[in-house]
Amino acid sequence: MRAFYQQVDLKVDKGIFLQSQEKIFIFIGPPGAGKGSLSHLCIQEFGWKQLSTGNLCRKHISKKTAVGKKMDFAIKSGKLIADELITQMIIEWFLDFSVNGRTIILDGYPRTIGQARFFDDFFKKKFATSQLQVIKFLIPDNKVIKRLCYRYVCQNSDCQAIYSLKPASLNQEKKLHICNYCSSKVGRRSDDKEQTIYDRLKTYYKFETELLNFYQNRGQLVKKINADKPLNDVFEDFKQLVHKIYD
Ligand code: AMP
Repeated sequence: MRAFYQQVDLKVDKGIFLQSQEKIFIFIGPPGAGKGSLSHLCIQEFGWKQLSTGNLCRKHISKKTAVGKKMDFAIKSGKLIADELITQMIIEWFLDFSVNGRTIILDGYPRTIGQARFFDDFFKKKFATSQLQVIKFLIPDNKVIKRLCYRYVCQNSDCQAIYSLKPASLNQEKKLHICNYCSSKVGRRSDDKEQTIYDRLKTYYKFETELLNFYQNRGQLVKKINADKPLNDVFEDFKQLVHKIYD
């Protein structure tokens, strides 16, 4: 059996962040805040790794695994998946991927106090040499609702690239149905429906405060980022924030 945590070797990230240890960023923000899109830019530009529990859930559903069958209904109705299933997926992810020396973004995880406690424990045991940063995305609800209404996602569960498309442009530009990265079909997420969006926002706010309190009570400074901007501007702000933290 492989160990959860493999020793950090002196690999470096691509680009500007030359560190000998991996860092872990926890992205906290409502659905549609741009956590996934910002993660994507960090993957492309710095070779970081993204652990999106939402993507993992959709992958399980699309591949019709036993775990996936238990998740389908909860996701479609905007509810959270049970902590035990999420924890199981997290452990599997760390077993499957070599993260030696690479920065990891936790996108949409932890979402509950139970998950935060588990990861805190896991983190201390397995990532003793890493640095954890918690980033909160600030954006008003009306903006995320609008974004989610225009959100299209690559239907290939191994890709799941995110697009923002007005339905009219989709109809005119047949090419936009195809993902730029893997040429699979692009479509809507089953939970990006009006009522489900409201339910997901309600669920998010139900847990947000206690999650942020959890980190603050542990002396973890929560950094804020204004996500109500075009993606490239958010990326520039994020890079500056990272420089400020590590310079
Ligand atoms: P996301 O892609 O982050 O918007 O997540 C989509 C859906 O997956 C959520 O509405 C939940 O049903 C489920 N999900 C994703 N991450 C978690 C998590 N950490 N805990 C519980 N459920 C999750």
